[in-house]
Amino acid sequence: MFLLLSDSIVDGGTGYRLSRSGSERAISEMIISKQGVCMLLKAKWVLPVSKKPIEDGAVVISGDTIEAIGKFKELKKKHPKEKIKDCGQAVLMPGFIDAHSHFEYSAFRGLCDDLSFSHWKMQVTKKGNKFLDEDWFCSAKLGVLEAVRSGITCVADSTSTGASLQATKEAGLRGVIFYEVTGMDDSKVNEIVSKSKKIVSSWQVKADGTNLKIGVSPYSVYTVSPPLFKSVSHWAREEGLRVCFHLAGSPDEYGFVKYGSSSLATLFLKQMGWDDFLWQPTGVSPVKYVEQWDALESGKVMVVHCVQVSDEDIDILKKYDVSIAHCPKCSAKLGMGIAPLRKFLHRNLKVGMGMDSPASNNTMDMFDEMRIGLLLQRGLEEKVDEFSAENFVRLATLGGAQALRMDSEIGSLEEGKKADLIAVDISHAYQSPMCDPYSILVYTANQEDIIFTMVGGKVLYEEGEYFTLDKKKVLAMVKPLRNKLKG
Ligand SMILES: [Zn+2]
Repeated sequence: MFLLLSDSIVDGGTGYRLSRSGSERAISEMIISKQGVCMLLKAKWVLPVSKKPIEDGAVVISGDTIEAIGKFKELKKKHPKEKIKDCGQAVLMPGFIDAHSHFEYSAFRGLCDDLSFSHWKMQVTKKGNKFLDEDWFCSAKLGVLEAVRSGITCVADSTSTGASLQATKEAGLRGVIFYEVTGMDDSKVNEIVSKSKKIVSSWQVKADGTNLKIGVSPYSVYTVSPPLFKSVSHWAREEGLRVCFHLAGSPDEYGFVKYGSSSLATLFLKQMGWDDFLWQPTGVSPVKYVEQWDALESGKVMVVHCVQVSDEDIDILKKYDVSIAHCPKCSAKLGMGIAPLRKFLHRNLKVGMGMDSPASNNTMDMFDEMRIGLLLQRGLEEKVDEFSAENFVRLATLGGAQALRMDSEIGSLEEGKKADLIAVDISHAYQSPMCDPYSILVYTANQEDIIFTMVGGKVLYEEGEYFTLDKKKVLAMVKPLRNKLKG
């Protein structure tokens, strides 16, 4: 245990690398030891999320775990020998949980803007064919670089290549990496599932000893045949795997399932070489359709988007305790619509905030996501009292942890939970004079305001410095990718 003030200190005996001092919000160190070490983090505001904000608060961290939380003065008396890190005029809070991402598509940022969902999907798929394995990896590295810089400490990332697994592992993030399964040819179901089992098994070995778990993602109703959905669901149930897939996003997806129509049934299937397989109207909604093929039954299912849903669909999701990755910015940008969030929450569904990928959302800025999400709901509901800034901070942290069924470990600052924390600088002119911390976070802050990102007691980012990533190298690596993706 040691006391860390804002000036530069080096303590070789503890396994910490401590670095520069500087601004009044100086915080500076990287934990490179796996041994249990203690420190006391203090800030103007500590936001446990599960309890009321604490002004002039502090958090005591021991190894990878939160040991105590409370007023700085009181904690200092109880822990007089602990090193102190003063985050200054900042909000110390749980790290953001991105309940849906595709890191490997980060280099597609800005390439397919201003297209409707189906046309966006076709363009992205077409351009993706130009990528080799190393390109996907470079693109995923760009994604984790942005995530760490933006205060995301845990992700639910879907990938077909495994690039995200390697990149997320190297970055030191926590999360679930979902292997994407696709296939519309019923004759190949056994072959696809057998291959998928091998890949998931090898990914589990790669994730062993890290903060990552492996799940499976039957991608969507327009890329996965009914028997494949059924087979993957049964496999996931047997193995206890987490499952994630896109569901009821766009009006085109709704038309594809219910009426056998839309660009997905014609242009998209043709582009994928699946136009030989006769796709017929099912007469039901996407949610009802996947229920018929057992896709909701495995027990740990999270679905993404859920915009085109009826009250009856929401009842079905509740029946299977399905959680939802709510992606308001992506859904609005691609013209999918606005999800009925109030109804999800009134039915006590587990809901987290997802940002999909820079290919659709352009940035992975959870402040932006919370702000846009809140404003869209107010516009939709035509009233202001249904949602508050606090509601959205909760969705972006504890809600995400619940959606991933990881809330016993992360999502709020509580004794015994993992030390996944971020500090948000709130000293700017646009944040003054200071008011309620929830208001500051949702209505004024941006991803650049993150000054500190910690996962499991290890500092990944601090004031411009990355401890697990080489920013210059990553940006140089992704530059040539743009040329590949043009055209
Ligand atoms: Zn997605």
